[in-house]
Amino acid sequence: MPKAKETVLVIDLQALEHNYHFLKSNIKPQTKFLAVVKAYAYGSDAMLIAKKLEELGVDYFAVAYTNEGILLREAGIKTPILVLHPQPLNFHQIIEYCLEPSIYAPRILREFIKVASEQQQKSYPVHLKFNTGLNRLGFWEKDVDYIAEQLKGREELRIVSVFSHLAASEDPAERSFSEQQIGSFKKIYANVKAKLHGKPFRHMLNTSGVINYPEAQFEMVRCGIGLYGYANDPKTDALLKPVATLKSVISQIHEIEPDETVGYNRAYTSEGPRVTATLPIGHADGIGRHYGKEAVSVLVNGKEAPIIGNVCMDMMMIDITGIPCQEGDEVIIFGKQLSAEQQAGRAGTISYELIAGISQRVKRKIFGV
Ligand SMILES: *Cc1c(COP(=O)(O)O)cnc(C)c1O
Repeated sequence: MPKAKETVLVIDLQALEHNYHFLKSNIKPQTKFLAVVKAYAYGSDAMLIAKKLEELGVDYFAVAYTNEGILLREAGIKTPILVLHPQPLNFHQIIEYCLEPSIYAPRILREFIKVASEQQQKSYPVHLKFNTGLNRLGFWEKDVDYIAEQLKGREELRIVSVFSHLAASEDPAERSFSEQQIGSFKKIYANVKAKLHGKPFRHMLNTSGVINYPEAQFEMVRCGIGLYGYANDPKTDALLKPVATLKSVISQIHEIEPDETVGYNRAYTSEGPRVTATLPIGHADGIGRHYGKEAVSVLVNGKEAPIIGNVCMDMMMIDITGIPCQEGDEVIIFGKQLSAEQQAGRAGTISYELIAGISQRVKRKIFGV
């Protein structure tokens, strides 16, 4: 990997390929694989990631919002794209760009039927989302009758799949709750099959679900975080490879006296003589305030250097006392050598938030094509 000369997010497509094959090895060969590429593919680069996964033969993509799906279509992605959380305002574009909406509430169903019918659609592919305990998005089981009534005698829509989402798939203490969700999903599906036309397929598992509930793979699984190298579990993490490495550089080195302060609000005071380095990365790049005040360290020539004082909008300062380094040297914030899971954990958050939060200001660089 070439040394960074500014703040960059290096994206390793070989790591992605490795993670994809690892996750595939945990599901039955006939189970379809949906790759979740929402939020710029968890903060990496949706286009690069989707292109690579399409080459590898992924069956489906999912994004959260319609505009994310449009970007993929404009980049030439041909694989079916499920939009997990569309709004009625987007329905014309959903159809224009051949995106497949999640239909998650009676209002959404009515509005989508209206647009599909105006556009004289026939068998337009949609997916029914059911709530089994996360209480976030989805129909209730009792809505099946309402859905059947709305679709009766209509040909505009075709229900491609029925799905739900686990609330705590990564948490062994919540196993009985997860099993209860899986049970109610099966019941809902039987009801859907009995009352609606067609033979939709089923999906329920995210990355941790694939690892912890292999019996609930059904016909497809939906993996996000695992593709990017994290799995909410140290044993699985060890078998995955982080796709994104966030690097920066030392802009300037300062030697400070005892009892000097560093940064805004003078949040750091030197106890003795210290050497500090300023890096061109801050809040606006995705590094939150909780990473400062020595909560988290970064790597300078293989040595840990704590982030001192308050992180600024475009900069942060680290303590490099005793670390052989110079201005222009590379600094690693997270990645292969320093997992985003660990870094996020030290700041009181999770890998998802750290990696998905790296802003579009940070240049993306491909590695391992
Ligand atoms: C984001 C998301 C996923 C992916 O979850 P991971 O834990 O990242 O694998 C799957 N399904 C739904 C509905 C999601 O919103």
